[in-house]
Amino acid sequence: MAGWVEVSRADIRRLAKFLELTVREFEAKHIVEHPRGGRKRIKAVDKTCQFLSPTRRCTVYRARPNDCRGYNCWDHADELYDYARFIQMPSADLAKLEARETKAERVEHEKALAKRRRKRLRDAART
Ligand code: SF4
Repeated sequence: MAGWVEVSRADIRRLAKFLELTVREFEAKHIVEHPRGGRKRIKAVDKTCQFLSPTRRCTVYRARPNDCRGYNCWDHADELYDYARFIQMPSADLAKLEARETKAERVEHEKALAKRRRKRLRDAART
């Protein structure tokens, strides 16, 4: 379910590395911990996964959590997750889609990381 994605330690490490954050930074920004049992999940934004883009693409696709790899994201008809409707397709097609990931998306990701790095350097210079 798009608004409730549980993550393992390995998922967290992979996602943090993908976003060029430390595990601690990633958890502070993107993770909530269940009060009982210590299970962790991705923070929801607008009642859906925060990594879902407005164009309904996973912005962390190459590093997405294991739970997201076993199914084709979601396609709930209820209004709660209308925003989160995603392209419903077999895993094999998703793999092909991943392989065709456009250069523009990679460039966009690199730009976002560079921007984050510059901000981190500015913040560090201020302290
Ligand atoms: S596939 Fe991506 S957008 Fe979809 S629930 Fe998983 S992390 Fe979020």
